[in-house]
Parts: sequence; C-alpha cells; structure tokens
Amino acid sequence: SLHDPTIPNVNIGVVGHVDHGKTTLVSQLTGSWTDRHSEELKRGISIRLGYADATFYKCPKCQGPESWSNTDTCQICGGKLEPVRSVSFVDAPGHETLMATMLSGSAIMDGAMLVIAANEPCPQPQTKEHLMALELTGITNIIIVQNKIDVVPQKQAIENYKQIKAFVKGTVAENAPIIPVSAQKKINFGVLIDALNTIIPDTERDADVPPIMLIARSFDVNRPGSSWRDIKGGVIGGSLIRGEFREGDDIEIRPGRQYMSENKAKWEPITTKITSTNKASHKVAVATPGGLSAIGTKLDPAITKSDTLVGQVAGAIGSLPPVWDKLKFDMTLMDRVVGSASEQNIEPLRLKEPLMLSVGTAVTVGIVMAAKKNQAEVILKRPVCAELGSRIAISRQVGGRWRLIGMGILTE
Ligand code: GDP
Ligand code: MG
Repeated sequence: SLHDPTIPNVNIGVVGHVDHGKTTLVSQLTGSWTDRHSEELKRGISIRLGYADATFYKCPKCQGPESWSNTDTCQICGGKLEPVRSVSFVDAPGHETLMATMLSGSAIMDGAMLVIAANEPCPQPQTKEHLMALELTGITNIIIVQNKIDVVPQKQAIENYKQIKAFVKGTVAENAPIIPVSAQKKINFGVLIDALNTIIPDTERDADVPPIMLIARSFDVNRPGSSWRDIKGGVIGGSLIRGEFREGDDIEIRPGRQYMSENKAKWEPITTKITSTNKASHKVAVATPGGLSAIGTKLDPAITKSDTLVGQVAGAIGSLPPVWDKLKFDMTLMDRVVGSASEQNIEPLRLKEPLMLSVGTAVTVGIVMAAKKNQAEVILKRPVCAELGSRIAISRQVGGRWRLIGMGILTE
C-alpha cells in the first residue's frame, strides 16, 4: 500500500569527501554495503552510485531521540519495535574524479547528509565541492553528519565543529543540524534518525499526471548461462519524479537507442511494456515518486545491461519532454573554482570549449557555440531528454579535471 512503512518514499543523498565514512554510514544504517563491484572493493573507494534502503523503528513506550532505531529492538528498554518509516540512500562517490557521478545522483536526491570526518581539518576539497553541488542543484534539506567521533578527543571534536560552522556560514547548509556520530561504532544513530525524519520528510509529489522516471541504474538481472526460456527482461532503476508506473503500462525511454544513418549517429525512442514494479526489493502494485524503484520490462537485457540507460528518461508514450542535441541556457557562473587545493578564478566561457553538463541523471559533453555573461549555447555530443526550465550543472576542465563552475536553466 502507499503507506507501507517498509517501502521508502524518499531518497537521501550521502555526500562528502572521500574516506569520510559515507559508505560505512550507509552500511551501518541499512545492513548492506553499497561498494559491491570488484573494482570498488579492490580500490576501497566507491566508483558508482550506491543504493540501499533502511527502515526506521520507534519505541512507543520510550521518549527522546534514542527511542528511534534502525533495528527492531529498542536501545532504551530492549522492547520489540514496529517499523515507522523507510528511506532509500544514494551513496555518492567522494573522489574528485567522480564528480559527474555525484552530480548524476543529486538529480534524484530529496535531501542529503553531508558527511564530514571529525579527524581532518574542515573543509576538505570535495566537502566544499559537494556542498556547492547541493546548492546548485537545489537541494536544501541537509543534515551535516560529523563522523568518526570515536577517534578524536572531545576537544578536537569541538574544534572541528567550529570549523564546520564557519565553513557553512552563508551557504544553503548554514542552519543544517550538525550531528556527531561514529558510523563504525553506531554511536548516536537515534539522534541522526530523528533528524532525518524532521529535516528530510517523505516527498509528496503529484501522482495524477503522466509519469516521468529519471533512470539512475539499468541492469541485466540474468545469471550468465541462463536458459533462453528463463531469461528475464531488462530492468531499469531510478526515481519517478511524478506520476505512477504499474505492471502492464506501455512506456517510452528517451533519447533511447543510437543508430547510424548516413554516417551520422541518430537516436530513436525505445518503447516497451512494464512487467513488474519494485521498491526496496518488494514487489509493489504501483511505483510512486520518491524512493528508488526498479522496473522490470520486456526489453532485451542487452539494452539495459551495465547501466547503459543511465541518464535517460522513462515515461508514458508520447508524454516525455523533448530530446535536445543543442542546449541554450541562462547561467550563473561562480567566482572561484572549488574542489582542488588551488582555487582559481572562473574565467568566462570560451568558444569551442568543452563543458560537462549534468541534466537530470544525464551527464553529457557540450561544445560552446555562443556565450554571453549569463547565457550560453552548446552542441551536445550525446543528446538529453529534459524539460524546459531544467537545472543544468556546468563543469569545465581545470588542470585536467572536470570542476563544477556554475549552474544553468534550460531555456530552449
Ligand atoms: P567513503 O569514501 O566516504 O565512502 O568512506 P568509507 O565508508 O569507505 O570509509 C573510509 C574509512 O574510514 C574506512 O576504513 C572505514 O572503516 C573508516 N571509517 C568510517 N566511519 C568511521 C568511524 O565512524 N570511525 C572510524 N574510526 N573509522 C571510520
Ligand atoms: Mg564510499
């Protein structure tokens, strides 16, 4: 049902500098590791977006934040608890080379936890860059998680708290609560869960309109060597930003599939039928906005394997926004580049300069064809499906890396 407390209706982003404990925090809150891929395990860093769901419980007999728990046992009286609310976490990689992935994830975040390790001076480069990304993509429901308090003396934790306060002054996180925790030792989780409930409530979005889903994952769920008789259709994962999906719905995915015509790459929409709707690994009758949905389809799994459809948009046939191979946008560039040790001034856009543009969950490269102070036009290497008025996060190459430099609004 729509109010099943074990089904998430909200996505909470987990952002911050590499090694500050984002993946550990998600794992300790949810019981599942988001670093699943062999490359991630080998290198010890998150490379892709990670997803995991948590259910929060409240003790009806006890009072205060510690009466909240992420297990069904009360921390205070030991009683058995009933589930109250579930959330989906989107675990962003914190490494500076992976900003594109972080930005793609921010499109589906309803709010975010900015994780800051108490045992390092604040801010670290991606602490700054991720907070700026939240600001530019319009995420205002923010909680600051001061992590690793188990390894610092109280005096240092207080010093670090002051640094955090000074750092967020004048930003969208100025009034965000700062919750000291140890992700590893599960210290202060009740207070954190209580704050998540207050600061990042469930999303209530329009259900009675044509559905639109931003695709953040896509999979082939078959085991290698499955018999053709048992082959399951391709699965797309992501968040509905409005409307609902049901089994049996005919859907369209745009930009869709690339094909060559007269030596030019063209794109055609893909259409298919929904065979199942899932949230938090439960089958659900309807997939609704907020939280992460996995949608089974009749597509050939070769089309959906290995995140091939990430950045595309799924919806009712004939109702999707336009597909653009050029974008014109109003923009605001920031004064300085953050995210690296040396912070340089941001120069105006140059003609022919490549930009990395994040629109919804899509990340694409655009070549600047025209630029004024507050407006630009680009030709895209890969088209995107997006509504007029969409936010565009703009990054440019600085010192061999993509750096976030500003924000645009799609105008035509
Ligand atoms: P991420 O890059 O932000 O996802 O960071 P990880 O979750 O991968 O954690 C980086 C390292 O910090 C790992 O070795 C964790 O075990 C360690 N770590 C994470 N949280 C804590 C904590 O609360 N206390 C301590 N002492 N170590 C932690
Ligand atoms: Mg990680």
